[in-house]
Amino acid sequence: MSKPKVATTSLAGCFGCHMSLLDIDERILKLIDLVDFDKSPIDDIKEFTGRCQIGLIEGGCTTDENVRVLKSFREHCDILISVGDCATMGGLPALRNTVPLHECLEEAYLNGPTVHNPEKRIPSDPEIPLMLDRVYPCHEVVKIDYFLPGCPPSADTLWEALSALLSDKPVELPYSLLKYD
Ligand code: SF4
Repeated sequence: MSKPKVATTSLAGCFGCHMSLLDIDERILKLIDLVDFDKSPIDDIKEFTGRCQIGLIEGGCTTDENVRVLKSFREHCDILISVGDCATMGGLPALRNTVPLHECLEEAYLNGPTVHNPEKRIPSDPEIPLMLDRVYPCHEVVKIDYFLPGCPPSADTLWEALSALLSDKPVELPYSLLKYD
């Protein structure tokens, strides 16, 4: 019998949430017994090979490419989980939401103290993903089924949530796995 598939991606994230998933240590062997990884940086599969039971999203949306990937995950995954503070509320990248986009670009490419840009040009090649006006948490773009807070969520939090979903049990995480103070 074929195993359920899990896909993962990092949008505007730092890969720390993926590192936390790998931090489940020897339970990774059990996870591999339970699921096949589909599109994911973990196995470097670039495109979906079929329907996935679970999609794990790290990072929010800061470019049009992030939106495209997120919508494709919604399309291909039965259950979509926002993993970590960047996915659930924008996280650190959302600090730029307090500053207009044109000012962010000017600081990064023209006015910043370490910028060397003799042509005084802000990159605008069509190959470069288009920056959104602000950073959007995933649930503002597509329907999200579960939210796992933390920066990153702990390995135990990820393991407990995945184990419950893969055994058709309700995801009922204890407070100790959800508090970060
Ligand atoms: Fe990195 Fe934290 Fe964002 Fe996860 S939530 S992608 S660990 S900054």
